[in-house]
Amino acid sequence: MCFRPPIAARPIKCPKCGAINPVVAKVCSKCQTPLEEKKVDEGAKKG
Ligand SMILES: [Zn+2]
Repeated sequence: MCFRPPIAARPIKCPKCGAINPVVAKVCSKCQTPLEEKKVDEGAKKG
């Protein structure tokens, strides 16, 4: 039996300096750039 880690737990790559930050990081630990999580939700549906 092997336990697989959740796919959601992926490291976040800083878009500025390219440093790898933990998924829990809010900002880059190198350049302090705010790390934004990309969501598959573009454009809200309007009636
Ligand atoms: Zn950075």
